[in-house]
Amino acid sequence: MQRLYPAPNLQCKLMNISDKTSFITAIAANPKGKIFDLPGYASVGMSAGMLKPLTTQNAAPAPYGTELMLLPERKPIFYNLSTNKIETLTFNPFNMAEKIYPVAAFNSPGHIISYTCAYTEKNNAIPLPLFSYGAAGWHNNQFVSAVIPIDLEKRQDLRLMPIEKVIKGVKNLRKKLPNNRLRKHLEKCALEYGCPAGKNLFLKRYEAPLPTSVTCNAKCLGCLSLQKNSGIRSSQDRITFKPSPAEIAEIALEHILIVKKSIVSFGQGREGDPIYAADVIEPAIKIIRKKTTQGTINVNTNASKPEILTKFFDAGIDSIRVSINSFRKSCYNAYFRPQNYTFQQIMQTIDIACQKGVFVSINYLNCPGFTDSAKEAEAFINFLKNNKINRIQWRNLNYDPIRYINAMNTAENSGTPYGVKNHLKNIAKTFPNIQFGYFNPPKEDFKKPNMFLSLIREN
Ligand code: SF4
Repeated sequence: MQRLYPAPNLQCKLMNISDKTSFITAIAANPKGKIFDLPGYASVGMSAGMLKPLTTQNAAPAPYGTELMLLPERKPIFYNLSTNKIETLTFNPFNMAEKIYPVAAFNSPGHIISYTCAYTEKNNAIPLPLFSYGAAGWHNNQFVSAVIPIDLEKRQDLRLMPIEKVIKGVKNLRKKLPNNRLRKHLEKCALEYGCPAGKNLFLKRYEAPLPTSVTCNAKCLGCLSLQKNSGIRSSQDRITFKPSPAEIAEIALEHILIVKKSIVSFGQGREGDPIYAADVIEPAIKIIRKKTTQGTINVNTNASKPEILTKFFDAGIDSIRVSINSFRKSCYNAYFRPQNYTFQQIMQTIDIACQKGVFVSINYLNCPGFTDSAKEAEAFINFLKNNKINRIQWRNLNYDPIRYINAMNTAENSGTPYGVKNHLKNIAKTFPNIQFGYFNPPKEDFKKPNMFLSLIREN
């Protein structure tokens, strides 16, 4: 058993290797960002400090749209196939004058990672930007990554979102709603940030975002729309105004009245939490529902204010998606850093939503080594036994994995991880009535069965 110390407080050790015949070849990047394979070395995945060489058993061809990233100020960890040992490399073994860096995969939507990229950090390394960092390698002339398919719907498939069509949609909506400030805000989402949800509004497909809120009562470590004094850049800027109920309803109706199985979602990015825009959301829902019963109205939220969300449910919200990283209070608090609410209030909201027949999804933020750890799995299973939720949206946590594991270990010991895939299989078998997915479903699909077990058999 080999021990390494890749970052302060995170110990690593090599996991059992059961399949030695089909290793995935390691990849690295040079200082110019050129990515290449390193024959003789296998890629290694990390799971809360446990190291596992990648093989064809635990990695698959990288799904279309996956992006590879060079990790600066870090050294890659590989498995040397001739010595059968883990090695941390600084230089290219085939060109000792060339420095090398780890390469991680940011996998396309609908797939969750089973291992993070394995690396060590330099002292005082900058935190990684807000992405997930899956283990990746090279096999049979293609890039592979340690991913598990969750949802193969084509909602965010970039091949189906040609930019010319997005621009055409933008121009059309400009003509129709010239003074709508929310329309203008969403143009930036689609055209500057390349946000697939924003693009879908202009392409008139699937789910459209309805950002409304400028503030939030959590301070998530990995908040994409606001970072202060963290040394990390937020990846989007937050909305700076509160749209009127009429502006919200106009955008929502544009989508709902045209798109088949449409969804419109509050809390879909570039904003705070919708609970802080209740004064415009509640009347907007009423305007929409006065006009049509078509379409699914959804709210993505931290669910911290049951009394406000009850008003949303009563106004006509069809579904709620609650974001949670952990079902243990200490770990939840260490990541969400709630400012004026308790974990108990979230549970209360979920309870009310279930009682009122609102479709409830948990947006469960996955980090290998933590989400599948013994204690987190136990807490999640207890939650599922006691709450009749409808769907688990498995999502990759977009945060520096070593810093996350360290933060969680500081909050509470999580025990040994038993593998993300094993964890998912166990949940799917124990709770066959709970859907697995990645996206918010339209109400027409609220009763669909869980397809996860057949999906992983096919892949
Ligand atoms: S709940 Fe959402 S908006 Fe609020 S801090 Fe967390 S990620 Fe940011």
